[in-house]
Amino acid sequence: MVDPVIIVGGGVIGLATGFELLRAGIPTTILDRNRAGRGTSWLAAGMLAPDTEIGFEELELYDLNRESLRRWPEFATAVEAASGRDVDYRDDGTLIVADDPDSTKRIRRLYEFQKEQGLDVDWLTGDEARDREPFVGPRVSAAIWVESDHQVDNRLLLDALREAFLAEGGTLREDTPVERIHPDDEAPAVVTEEGEQIQGRDVVIAAGVWSRQLDGLAPAAPPPVRPVKGQMIQLRMKLPFDLQHVIRGPDAYLAPKSNGRLVIGATSEEMGFDTEVTAGGLYDLLEGAWEIVPGVYDLAVDDTWAGLRPASRDHAPIVGRSGAPGVIVATGHYRHGILLSPVTAQEVTRLVQTGETSRWIEPFSPARFSGPIPESTA
Ligand SMILES: Cc1cc2nc3c(=O)[nH]c(=O)nc-3n(C[C@H](O)[C@H](O)[C@H](O)COP(=O)(O)OP(=O)(O)OC[C@H]3O[C@@H](n4cnc5c(N)ncnc54)[C@H](O)[C@@H]3O)c2cc1C
Repeated sequence: MVDPVIIVGGGVIGLATGFELLRAGIPTTILDRNRAGRGTSWLAAGMLAPDTEIGFEELELYDLNRESLRRWPEFATAVEAASGRDVDYRDDGTLIVADDPDSTKRIRRLYEFQKEQGLDVDWLTGDEARDREPFVGPRVSAAIWVESDHQVDNRLLLDALREAFLAEGGTLREDTPVERIHPDDEAPAVVTEEGEQIQGRDVVIAAGVWSRQLDGLAPAAPPPVRPVKGQMIQLRMKLPFDLQHVIRGPDAYLAPKSNGRLVIGATSEEMGFDTEVTAGGLYDLLEGAWEIVPGVYDLAVDDTWAGLRPASRDHAPIVGRSGAPGVIVATGHYRHGILLSPVTAQEVTRLVQTGETSRWIEPFSPARFSGPIPESTA
């Protein structure tokens, strides 16, 4: 029997990669220390927003983000077909709003940059923004309309991906922490906390923010990811409140899902592995949301949480063959892991299949971090 590909970590990246490998006819085993799909990916907002998040100095990452969004509709359809579940892919578009002179200046600069890059975005007055989305508040005086930025319900997606992976014949071992990797050209393997050794044709490290904690990767450096904490609040939408678009303001964003979840995020904090939800974090988010969409005031609070974004030293993903034989890395997706799941999964599958690194992932190779790791930034 052919050895399967072994994936360490069943988040959106591990599950999507497993699904694509199976679709390509490659047997795959995913090991997760908990239930698959309950790590950072569960705690995200599900925005698929390359055009909104285009960064002045990150055009290579923008191209990857954009390519992944291009692949999203087909990917969502395939996951839904294999799982029999809906993932709530929504193409209603995104409004970036401003509510004072400073934030107006900031979004004007962004708009001009977006236009320079050839993006299909429109400048709106406050009234035009309210025509598109009546729940935008009276303080909003300007906005950018980004029709091309979409969203998905990340929680529905994860449960659907898990089902799809199983339906395609994947082996999923939950509650199975991996302790160490055994790199090898012919037969790389992982060793579980219980001491069981599982051999594969390749090992893919997709353990998100915990990827750096796996033993056995010397002499190649483990992927240099660090946690960046993001606090969120979930409200329950109730008629007549019926927000339809993702709204991004100066201090908070709101992402409405079709089942009534309204996700408000997110703080960005360098706090190590701390996941405490704080009064200050919630206060800032609620104030930031209320200023741009005042109707949130009357909604019930469903839940609050803090997730840990896996950030690399340059905030771009780390995808490709590592210096360790037989070991592929797929992590460091920071703010974009849900968006980047199709392109990561499909290009890792291509790497396993052909041995070739495609032009999409080439700039994001682990090799860019292969020197000594400065302790202050790793
Ligand atoms: C507040 C917040 C909002 C966000 N919003 C968005 C958004 O709107 N759009 C977007 O695209 N991205 C967003 N992100 C980013 C996105 O959530 C991440 O980039 C993505 O979830 C990373 O996925 P992953 O599969 O690498 O990690 P995870 O989902 O964390 O999966 C890793 C898995 O590995 C398992 N694991 C860890 N160690 C081991 C081990 N030793 N053995 C076995 N299993 C192990 C864990 O149990 C976990 O299931 C957001 C993140 C946060 C925190």
